[in-house]
Amino acid sequence: MKSHIITKLVEIVGEKNVNTDPAEIYCYSRDSTPFQYFADVIVRPANTTEVSEIMELANGNRIPVYPRGSGTSAAGSPLPVKGGIVIDLTRMNRVLGFDEENLQVVIEPGVICDDLNEFLKDYGYFFPPDPASSSAATLGGMVANNSAGNRAIKYGKTKDWILWLEAVLPSGEIIHTGSGTLKSVSSYDLTKLLCGSEGTLAVFTKIGMRVQPLPETYKTAMFLFDDLNRAGEAIVKARSSGVVPCAMEFLDKLTLGTSADYAGLNLPECEAMLLIETDGIESAAEKELKIITNIVRGMNPKQWKIAQDEEERNSLWVARKSAYAALARCSITTTMEDLTVPISKIPEALKRIQKIPERVDNLIRVATFGHAGDGNLHPTFLYDERIPEQQEAFFKALNIIYNEVALDLGGSITGEHGVGLIRKDFVEKEHGPVEMSLMKGIKHVFDSNNILNPGKGKPWGSAGEP
Ligand SMILES: Cc1cc2nc3c(=O)[nH]c(=O)nc-3n(C[C@H](O)[C@H](O)[C@H](O)COP(=O)(O)OP(=O)(O)OC[C@H]3O[C@@H](n4cnc5c(N)ncnc54)[C@H](O)[C@@H]3O)c2cc1C
Repeated sequence: MKSHIITKLVEIVGEKNVNTDPAEIYCYSRDSTPFQYFADVIVRPANTTEVSEIMELANGNRIPVYPRGSGTSAAGSPLPVKGGIVIDLTRMNRVLGFDEENLQVVIEPGVICDDLNEFLKDYGYFFPPDPASSSAATLGGMVANNSAGNRAIKYGKTKDWILWLEAVLPSGEIIHTGSGTLKSVSSYDLTKLLCGSEGTLAVFTKIGMRVQPLPETYKTAMFLFDDLNRAGEAIVKARSSGVVPCAMEFLDKLTLGTSADYAGLNLPECEAMLLIETDGIESAAEKELKIITNIVRGMNPKQWKIAQDEEERNSLWVARKSAYAALARCSITTTMEDLTVPISKIPEALKRIQKIPERVDNLIRVATFGHAGDGNLHPTFLYDERIPEQQEAFFKALNIIYNEVALDLGGSITGEHGVGLIRKDFVEKEHGPVEMSLMKGIKHVFDSNNILNPGKGKPWGSAGEP
């Protein structure tokens, strides 16, 4: 990168917030996918004006820019594929205001999800979307990916809670989308368009969101199955019980074995675990859990139990939330995939996923867990990316997962992690050429010089860049 650009960046954010040290550049070269790309410089702005000045400078000089939160992406979405500038937004991490009368909070994009909930807890509220990465994920990253997680089955995705955004366009112009009211139809819904745009349309600098009163209680049940198909059928039956639980999570044998060990849980060997939770006022949560429990027990689980106290509930959730970290201890490369299928197709999807290793000469292993209550599964491949045959087997497995499981069963190639780099070749197959061309048009309107997070996200199908 030319030295006068670095000098300008230093003028905008100060010397200590501009970094070209190779060790630092290395740290920003990966996320949780097997891809690696190197930026020329990392900048850490402190406010909207600085973000705007960086974008104006980059746009004028046609330099690619990649917004980044904590880099927990499971899609390759923040990686600097064409070199250029990574904007690290984690310095912008303040809660700017809480309006209890209107149940709204205003934050900067670098606030971490768990920190926001810690802040809201003191007032008796919470922000429901709860990715398993909540201890690290920033709200900017969550808005950009429209992240969901454990509670989406009842409370929806990040998008459902965002009322307005302050965002900087690639040109450097600052826009304010949406409204602080609970209803407004005075424009195209740019807020919803930006939620899930994966850092390809604008950089968020302030976020206005709704919050929810904390439930009085949670009731949690765990079921172990010695047959994978019966566990899948139990999910389908429980979902048609008329009760909407606040979580319905699934772990297969390999995931459960490693996570239980990691979380210090003493569980018998089994093929699958379901973790089901209801919330609300005490009597309602208890009644709802009883209805679901009766249905799931009808599917002959090998063992089941209801958490008796907060400690027991927490240890079950530690096993679920640490699934990816626990699996990552078992192999050099751990790549988590993300598909959704209609709820009725979960048993068939699980069956097809389990067969994938055989179809690639058992060169890789697969462990599956996920938010099964909304049909969202995370088959996670365990292999060694340094061995070419294993890397090749992984890419074959990707094709099977997305073409022969997700799309063939009427599902989607990503429920919550986004397209990023890893799923971009499958977008066109799901959405067709006319929608692709509309999405490319939207990208062009926002970013005619194609400088913001190029090569990634929805507008890029197998047909290449817009
Ligand atoms: C162990 C593990 C568990 C996970 N569990 C879940 C889960 O349950 N549910 C779920 O939905 N996801 C999950 N994820 C995926 C990931 O954590 C989420 O997508 C998360 O919201 C990303 O946040 P981040 O701050 O790390 O963003 P990053 O990874 O840094 O960036 C993600 C995307 O957001 C863009 N971006 C970041 N900040 C901004 C901004 N201010 N303005 C514009 N664009 C921006 C980036 O360019 C990139 O495209 C998981 C990941 C891991 C590793």
